[in-house]
Amino acid sequence: MATPVDILALDRASLKAWVEESDPGFRADQLWRWLWKQGERNLDAMTNLPASLRERISTKGVINQLSLSGQQVASDGTIKFLFALTSGRHVETVLIPDFAEDGMPVRMTVCVSSQVGCAMGCSFCATGLMGFQQNLTSGEIAEQVQLADHAARTTYDSQVSNVVFMGMGEPLLNMDGVLGAIEKLTADDGFGLGAKRITVSTVGLATRIRELADLEARFGLAVSLHAPFNDKRSSIMPVNRKAKTDLDSLISAIKYYTDKTGRRITYEYCMFAGFNDSIEDARELAKLVQQAPAKVNLIMYNPVEGLGFHRSEEDTLDRFISELVKKKVTVTVRRSRGQDIDAACGQLAINQ
Ligand code: SF4
Repeated sequence: MATPVDILALDRASLKAWVEESDPGFRADQLWRWLWKQGERNLDAMTNLPASLRERISTKGVINQLSLSGQQVASDGTIKFLFALTSGRHVETVLIPDFAEDGMPVRMTVCVSSQVGCAMGCSFCATGLMGFQQNLTSGEIAEQVQLADHAARTTYDSQVSNVVFMGMGEPLLNMDGVLGAIEKLTADDGFGLGAKRITVSTVGLATRIRELADLEARFGLAVSLHAPFNDKRSSIMPVNRKAKTDLDSLISAIKYYTDKTGRRITYEYCMFAGFNDSIEDARELAKLVQQAPAKVNLIMYNPVEGLGFHRSEEDTLDRFISELVKKKVTVTVRRSRGQDIDAACGQLAINQ
């Protein structure tokens, strides 16, 4: 017997082709709206679809939904979800609310996972310790946003405004899943989020960055740098040990990307005490990032037990920022959110 088609994993063109095997193409548009605009999963509720098509979906297809296995709320309002995939494995998703002084929500960011575990093995990261287990489908990624949006509406009377691919996994090693999810999230008759409100964060795979430039992708790109010298970066990020993904190749790919797209990129730089937070590091970082239009986002590290890295002191951070500003680098600082529930950057691993 043929394997049932995973309906949520299909991109728009594939969904259309599958529907057209039995029905006119506009039925695929109707189905797409139910799935990605309305967030409906119950076929009986899709009343404008003919019963024969609904029957075909339920017999020849399958709707592989995420199911919520756990949820924790941090003292700052951050919510971490644990979702079970149909494979039985789990991923984590984080909803990060930002509130104005009057307590009203001004921004709702969802941090999604694109893989279970990660193959990249960065030595400061809890996810890296898990190793790679599987890629998520485009449906499994987009559904994390839909479910977090539901929580934003019911908990904060707000809605998701931004999506960052900074959860578990290296997004550019799951291009089909990630680009397919972005199609669902940005379609006007889908989730309807502007592409500029989506940021994909990569460890810095030079070839894939060039591919994104050629695709003229409209979402934002963030690159995890974490050290401005090859030897230091290689010591914490195994990806840097290969010539085609070392700092020279990376910066050259980033120049290609910014030239081709006309957009600047964001460098993520996690501050590790005594490792990458000296004035010499700041000077070298300034030289590197000024080779293409960019800004630097300094991240206050959330220590993961047993990994041996510590957060930089505040006065070290201040000196580091001053040096970058002196060199005319645009710099922002990301304070940690959701630390008390292990939902902050680099802390995602299945430990509920
Ligand atoms: S930091 Fe990102 S790329 Fe590195 S191991 Fe963790 S999830 Fe993977």
